[in-house]
Amino acid sequence: MAEDIQRDLRKDDLILVAGAGGFIGGSVVRHFKELGFTRIRAVDRKPLSEWYQRIEGVECLCMDLSEKQNAVRAVENAVEVYNFAADMGGMGFIERFRVECLRSVLINTHLIEAAWRAGVRRYFFASSACVYNTELQKDPNVRALKESDAYPAMAERGYGWEKLISEMFCQEYWAERGLETHIARFHNVYGPNGTWFGGREKAPAAICRKVIEAKDLGKDTIEIWGDGTQTRSFCYIDDCVKGIDMIMHCDRLIATPINLGSSELVSINELVDIVEEIAGVRLKRVYDLNAPRGVAGRNSDNTFIKQVLGWEPNTPLRVGMRKTYAWIEQQYYDRKAGKKVVEEKW
Ligand code: NAD
Repeated sequence: MAEDIQRDLRKDDLILVAGAGGFIGGSVVRHFKELGFTRIRAVDRKPLSEWYQRIEGVECLCMDLSEKQNAVRAVENAVEVYNFAADMGGMGFIERFRVECLRSVLINTHLIEAAWRAGVRRYFFASSACVYNTELQKDPNVRALKESDAYPAMAERGYGWEKLISEMFCQEYWAERGLETHIARFHNVYGPNGTWFGGREKAPAAICRKVIEAKDLGKDTIEIWGDGTQTRSFCYIDDCVKGIDMIMHCDRLIATPINLGSSELVSINELVDIVEEIAGVRLKRVYDLNAPRGVAGRNSDNTFIKQVLGWEPNTPLRVGMRKTYAWIEQQYYDRKAGKKVVEEKW
């Protein structure tokens, strides 16, 4: 399917992926490499040994993109730029480290200016469902969020506001300066090759790890953040990567934020049911009502993406979680056996 996308790119045009040591960036690098693109530059602040995926034949640079001179260096000769670099994590991280989240504005600010100056053809920004007005997300029986629900603005403190202002940069660089920008609002992306322990992990990975650990240690309980009734939709990484490629190469989506998420809504309790089923265990649930829980409910309204792209993320949660569980289980036992796994440093 990804072969059908009209990209007007030569196979040796340079593609820059910022935040390539992370979960989504690393998967996008792999995607373009597998499609036969020969000049991919992958940049991340983390040392190379901490990248989730390192793909042979890709130029890998370790640089902090919140520094202007590094942003300028990163985009040299690039035809397309994908910005996935941000200081981020699950609710446990973004509720606690709002200053770090806000400071990611420096990355996009320098990178987009450098991209425009360098004559880059297309620029992609990874936005988030956290831009949506939090007032609309107080009920677990949510109405799915459509793109216009970001305004009037009352985004998630810290992280959400950074995303909203960076979206605006993308829109104004197009309106005023003619840089073609594309903006996707991701909704809870999950899958192999992402953070699964250490404090930055999100609910799907955290629940897999907790179930695997309980099974391994013979524990019969699992701790859940909040009361388990909070609802979310979760987008499998392969759908996310495909969506990024489609959105970046769609002329109707220039400077137009669009949801990239699944519309299969589940409660956290239902997500735990799925993981328990995969693992073949039943655990007693202990609810930590003081833990970060985020908004009460959030789902992606996919009317717009279906209308423009004739597609929406469609990997069933059970299918994606099965693959995620298998990957985390392998990581867990590798780590236990003293083998090297990727660790997130705070
Ligand atoms: P991730 O944490 O795995 O990857 C982000 C990468 O950016 C990390 O490897 C980090 O080292 C790097 N980075 C941070 N600051 C940097 C800097 N100053 N210079 C260079 N690199 C820097 O996160 P992810 O899940 O892959 O998310 C990618 C993007 O998608 C982020 O912008 C994130 O906000 C957005 N997003 C993700 C989700 C999700 O569910 N994963 C949801 C909404 C939005």
